[in-house]
Amino acid sequence: MPAEEGAPSPSFDALVVAAHPDDAEVQMGGTLAKLARRGQRILLVDLTDGEPTEFAEPGVRARQATEAARILGVERLTLQHRDRLLVDEPGIRLELARLIRQHRPRWVYGTGEACVHPDHAAAAAITRAAVFLARLGQWERVPGGEGLSDQEPWAPDRLFFPHCKMEPAWSEIAFAVDVSEVYEVKRQALAAYGSIFKPAGDQLLMLYEAEDAYFGRMLGVAFAEPFRAASPLLLDDPTVVLASVHG
Ligand SMILES: [Zn+2]
Repeated sequence: MPAEEGAPSPSFDALVVAAHPDDAEVQMGGTLAKLARRGQRILLVDLTDGEPTEFAEPGVRARQATEAARILGVERLTLQHRDRLLVDEPGIRLELARLIRQHRPRWVYGTGEACVHPDHAAAAAITRAAVFLARLGQWERVPGGEGLSDQEPWAPDRLFFPHCKMEPAWSEIAFAVDVSEVYEVKRQALAAYGSIFKPAGDQLLMLYEAEDAYFGRMLGVAFAEPFRAASPLLLDDPTVVLASVHG
């Protein structure tokens, strides 16, 4: 739903929802850097604080998450749901729907299909549900939903899903973003998470980078981040699509 004439402009262009601080950076850190460099205002919403971590005391990850957001040029909000035990339930759906109605983003990004990590699967389901609920009215007539009744409905233009890198690489995607020119920024943002990744030669980081290189290889660039979409992409100008190495 486009903003009506005279309505306040959206406070964020994109809202990115993930289970843990570092998920958004891993899945689409290059895309975030590119969006930010094009002047887009982006809010990362972590549904949990990602504690405990393997290599640091409680609280360290939060500071690292702040630093990663600064490096990418985005803002961050960390909610306090339980890491490892995140569940898709009405309260968290409504909480996220309220954030969507508050910030009125054009685009929402949520974790793609996931089953390895239950928090990621829950985050995917919560995001889909919240985007739908955010566009509905009549909340004063829904027991438990009254908290949304003071806000106008909001329907983002698009719901996109970056790939959860704990899952096998997708064979079909809606599109990919060429992140070659900002890949060093993505590396720096991930390097901020010393509580999760080892300083040098971290195997997980190497595998994450290998996936971005794999999608880049398929499309003829150095690095690309893959996305699926809730509905097919619609082009006004068919000439805007970039060339691919194999046509
Ligand atoms: Zn995660």
